[in-house]
Amino acid sequence: MISKVKNAMSTLVGGMIPHGHHHPSGTGQNSGSSEGLPPRFPYGRPDFLDLTPELLQYSTEHASRPVLMLRRDSRLPWRTGYAEVINAGKSMLNEDQASCEKLFVKKPSGKHRSSPLQEDTGDATGIPLHFWGVYDGHAGSGAAIAASKLLHRLIRDRLGEVAHLLENPASPPPICLAKNGSPYQATESKKGAAAAAAAAQQQGEGAAAEEPDAISDPTIRYHMEKVVSMESLVMGVLENAFRQMDELIEKEKASYTISGGCCALAAVQMLGKLYVANAGDSRAIIIRNDEVIPMSNEFTPESERQRLQYLGFLRPELLGNEFTHMEFPRRIQHSELGKKMLFRDHTMTGWAYRTIVEDDLKFPLIYGEGKKARVMATIGVTRGLGDHDLKVYNSNIHIKPFLSCCPEVKVYDLSENKHGPDDVLVMGTDGLWDVTTDQEVADAVSTFLSGCDPSDPMRYTLAAQDLLMRSRGVLKERGWRLPSDRLGSGDDITVFVIPLAGHEGET
Ligand code: MG
Repeated sequence: MISKVKNAMSTLVGGMIPHGHHHPSGTGQNSGSSEGLPPRFPYGRPDFLDLTPELLQYSTEHASRPVLMLRRDSRLPWRTGYAEVINAGKSMLNEDQASCEKLFVKKPSGKHRSSPLQEDTGDATGIPLHFWGVYDGHAGSGAAIAASKLLHRLIRDRLGEVAHLLENPASPPPICLAKNGSPYQATESKKGAAAAAAAAQQQGEGAAAEEPDAISDPTIRYHMEKVVSMESLVMGVLENAFRQMDELIEKEKASYTISGGCCALAAVQMLGKLYVANAGDSRAIIIRNDEVIPMSNEFTPESERQRLQYLGFLRPELLGNEFTHMEFPRRIQHSELGKKMLFRDHTMTGWAYRTIVEDDLKFPLIYGEGKKARVMATIGVTRGLGDHDLKVYNSNIHIKPFLSCCPEVKVYDLSENKHGPDDVLVMGTDGLWDVTTDQEVADAVSTFLSGCDPSDPMRYTLAAQDLLMRSRGVLKERGWRLPSDRLGSGDDITVFVIPLAGHEGET
């Protein structure tokens, strides 16, 4: 087994072991069950690029890596800028995806309740919402495409369920939904409970047995004791929508091929706030007055080591008798049994000595450093959507239990800050950030935008193109190179540049 893993490690490309790559979206990875099923969505680039079949073909040329960007006559909300480029050959198709939408959140209204995942009808009533998403697929493009088509609709529908609370943000009273779906005041139900208890006592019966359902429901009691902010309601919506998207992919895999998995980074602007939800290793930063405000953290085997080790410790059967949850500074030789070695487990950030036992000879659950760190020698990101069939190479060990679909959500108050035309949110897949630091991105954007006509409708797209070129570099004899002669990013690269003042012109 260990040599098997070593072989897989030695041929690693990008975030995944190579099998499963070089497949169009119509073929699955690591799974016999989806063979012959149609793809959930055909391969394509984001609808807003409006590519002709010829341009779609052209976009897949690894040798020239053409930059795709918005056409001069097409507009995204807020003049959002967008650019993308395919990888240098690690997979046949561009496994990144993106979406940008303006949506309207509507309260579900009785029998006219909209069905989940309904396309937007164009009816511009309800709470307006802007959405941007970048998805970085691996081992196929199926999950990334499905998420780019559906996640924002799930978010819209979930928001609809709490719209009655969001519309009154000044001081939302502790209102909760009764079982019949109608809102009621918790204070009234408290009175109701007191009355019910009094009535029960009069009858000489146990009060608990007579309590109304609403009061015995622990969820509702929770609402009565805690103040739930509007922000935390939206955060809860985002967290649940990511989980629902992951479950939807799993469910639909019974009828369709949805290959691979994807990192998901989503930004939602609503009611004066910007919410950024991240599951994976894409990144978002705000650049305001040339200052960088990080809006996401990356989730990798290194950043999530203790969570993963703890799961391996609690449920060793998930390690398939092949891996150990312990970490050592290097692989241990059989001849070192009984000797002392530095280690750390799920409880530790630092290192300490332990005496090596037989179990420590197994392959480490987390192995490698930086971009080369892998969970069970297979995957380099620890949060995202999909990957339900992903297994350790040539084994029956599932990796999905170690992956989380739960995003971390950060909130930024748009209405409390004044923004100039050069203040932006930059969202990009790891292809952008692998070779360009946050500060370099901020400096480049600020320099570019300050030299660009503020009324130019293309300015943010040109800024996105400029960023992308900085990470891709130019093709020289020894591959794609940056001006510094360092290697450029060979990964797919996707960038949004979103002006934060954009909301001021919107109704
Ligand atoms: Mg990538």
